[in-house]
Amino acid sequence: MDALDIARLQGILAQIEHDAAQATDRGQVATYIPELAKIDPAQFAIAVSLPDGTTLTAGDAAVPFSIQSISKVFMLAIALGRLGDQLWQRVGREPSGLAFNSILQLEREKGIPRNPFVNAGAIAVTDAVLAGHQPKDVLGELLRFIRMCAEDDDIHINKSVAASEQATAHRNIALAEFMAAEGNLRNPAALTIGTYVHQCAVEMTCAQLARAGRFLTNAAGAPRLVSPARVRRINALMMMCGHYDGSGEFAYRAGLPGKSGVGGGILAIAPGRASIAVWSPGLNERGNSKLGSAAIETLTRETGWSVFG
Ligand code: GLN
Repeated sequence: MDALDIARLQGILAQIEHDAAQATDRGQVATYIPELAKIDPAQFAIAVSLPDGTTLTAGDAAVPFSIQSISKVFMLAIALGRLGDQLWQRVGREPSGLAFNSILQLEREKGIPRNPFVNAGAIAVTDAVLAGHQPKDVLGELLRFIRMCAEDDDIHINKSVAASEQATAHRNIALAEFMAAEGNLRNPAALTIGTYVHQCAVEMTCAQLARAGRFLTNAAGAPRLVSPARVRRINALMMMCGHYDGSGEFAYRAGLPGKSGVGGGILAIAPGRASIAVWSPGLNERGNSKLGSAAIETLTRETGWSVFG
């Protein structure tokens, strides 16, 4: 990208931030994790990281936030590295069309979650990585991986957020116990959920998250931490399942693979071009960042970065 393009991109980000600041309906912050309910919904950030690490930002891009379900992408990459295609015996690759924490399909489909990004699927993925290891080692591996992706060691787990989710994790414990009943859990549910809530409590700034996503662009010059074939598949899963029952809408509007979290973050990938992170804590009715989704839609419209041309 030449200097002119970079200046234009910076202008687009400034405009997006300006528009977000005017928004009156910012959605609702998640309240079922009490620590997240305390976050000021007036915050907004966007960051675009180019393959070489050049990162453009607007808004509160240096404020750490809880990445929540965006962590599922990094844990999936670790799980595929460790287990390869065997992982797919325990979790499917189809969109669910249901809320992120739904238990409905699990009974009908004999404890095999639809995909690795709904909670049940992510819990199965974490459980698979955990088997034979200590939670602290798995969490250490996750942090090392994310730090390597971002080329930044200042990335940590927020223990208060983890404790807050742990104290209210009834649904996730139910999902894990149901999978245990169907023979699809290798560790005690408490151990797997304890690991999972800490994984979700990783905090990053928008700039760090955008940089961390560069390995998913498969672009020349980006860090190559996962094989290109696997990166393509992770992107396919993000496109189909990354926003739960809002995945179709996100694909329709943004035209990019993306992964949201209830902390209000979204990581979106423009293959071959850039990694994009947005953060706005207020969520829409599907639990995806309201202004964040709109911001990525504007960015792809203005840049022509939709994967559909
Ligand atoms: N930690 C959250 C949960 O399990 C993650 C959900 C999300 O970000 N969509 O409920």
